[in-house]
Amino acid sequence: MHKYGDCSFCGGEVKSSRVELDYRYKGKLYIFKDVPAGICQQCGEKYLTAKVVKEIEYRIRKKEKWDKTIPVPVDVFSKKVVV
Ligand SMILES: [Zn+2]
Repeated sequence: MHKYGDCSFCGGEVKSSRVELDYRYKGKLYIFKDVPAGICQQCGEKYLTAKVVKEIEYRIRKKEKWDKTIPVPVDVFSKKVVV
C-alpha cells in the first residue's frame, strides 16, 4: 500500500482510503468510484498517486462503455448572487 506523506496544505496525517473522485479531462467531467487515494484527516484534501492518475487518464482515453452516465446540473452562480 502506498505511503502518503503529511498534507502539504495543513500538515495533517494523510491516510489511505477509497474515494469517489471528480476528474476533469479536456473540458469533460468524469466520476470514478472506489478510487484508492490518500485523505488528509484534518482538512480532507485528496492525494492521488501518479500511478492512479495514469490509470484514470488511460481509462478516459480507452474506455468505450462506461458503467453509467449521469446528467450534471449546471448553475451560473454570479448572475443571481451579489456579494
Ligand atoms: Zn490537510
